[in-house]
Amino acid sequence: MPDTEDTVPGFATLAVRAGQQRTLESEHAEPIFPTSSYVFESAAAAAARFSGEQPGNIYSRFTNPTVRTFEQRLAALEGGERCVATASGMAAIYATCAGLLQSGDHLVSSRSIFGSTTLLFNNYLQKFGISTTFVAQDDVSAWEAAIRPETRLLFLETPSNPLTEVADIHALSELAHASDCLLVVDNCFCTPALQRPLALGADIVIHSATKYLDGQGRCVGGAVVGREDVVGEGVYGFLRTCGPTMSPFNAWVFLKGLETLAIRMQAHCASAQRLADWLQAQPAVERVYYPGLASHPQHELAARQQSAFGGIVSFDLKGGQQAAWELIDATRVCSITANLGDTKTTITHPATTTHGRLTQEQRAQAGIADGLVRVAVGLESIDDLCADLARGL
Ligand SMILES: *Cc1c(COP(=O)(O)O)cnc(C)c1O
Repeated sequence: MPDTEDTVPGFATLAVRAGQQRTLESEHAEPIFPTSSYVFESAAAAAARFSGEQPGNIYSRFTNPTVRTFEQRLAALEGGERCVATASGMAAIYATCAGLLQSGDHLVSSRSIFGSTTLLFNNYLQKFGISTTFVAQDDVSAWEAAIRPETRLLFLETPSNPLTEVADIHALSELAHASDCLLVVDNCFCTPALQRPLALGADIVIHSATKYLDGQGRCVGGAVVGREDVVGEGVYGFLRTCGPTMSPFNAWVFLKGLETLAIRMQAHCASAQRLADWLQAQPAVERVYYPGLASHPQHELAARQQSAFGGIVSFDLKGGQQAAWELIDATRVCSITANLGDTKTTITHPATTTHGRLTQEQRAQAGIADGLVRVAVGLESIDDLCADLARGL
């Protein structure tokens, strides 16, 4: 038996236990604190709280016990010093940029990122004098060439949405640090159950908690994880003043989601692998994108930096948009919706939904073909999912 004083808790233990502080009611499950503000014992105590002399809760835009439990649990799972929870995944990305960058700064981003993130960088950060250069996710020399003296952040998602391109987190972290930049990784597709970017050298991890952290498609939320001096000061400072904070109800749902994260991810990955293998054998399918396939260009890299290959499978149909729409419309089990990371399998046509607001040229550059279909594999029986897709193939 290991010495109980010295053992570091395992991932599954942290997922169930980290961050919980029981109240005087001795509750077993984590409570929800739906309160907008907190009371003080006296006028002097209020003054001491507001001045920062005495730590403690003041107002739920600043701190809330349920939100804090979620933050501490996710920080433990990612191996980060500090986590701040946000109202959505986009709020996490925006708070990171707004908190850490200023006018005149530059960022280098993978061009294979979530559609709204591209719009945030192009339409909104640009407006405040922060410019972005987009590069190919898998080309380290393109990242290097794009870095300028005023570059502050490198941003990527790996595996990317929807083409599952894998970036080399360690190589890009060395590049970032050699140029005094921070590496920001959107870890939405893997979650800490499959990949821990901070251990690979990244400085900040972003989450859309809406996806696998919730795991059952109920709430919208996000998080930023990293060092205290970066996330605790820059990002939290922005958040408490500017306001896109997480509600305690949502934090509670995400906390419960974290408790089953590891076993859900194992099941998503196992079914996704089987679906990808099956799709590869279908004559109507041009190409399958899944890091678990030996044919995936970064299969080896994915095997090195992830513990499994994820739950998202995308594929190009030979028949273009018409074939893609017919396949989607023929399904009876899959849900036609743009969300992912749910127990229910979802099916999406990226070119006309999640990536529909990009220009034709931006889509072509990102490799989003008209015949591309994305499946976020849920927890139904895999045979039923294959049969469901077979209907429209
Ligand atoms: C959904 C998503 C986001 C945005 O998260 P929201 O919670 O919808 O704001 C960011 N990155 C990735 C990879 C996503 O899938």
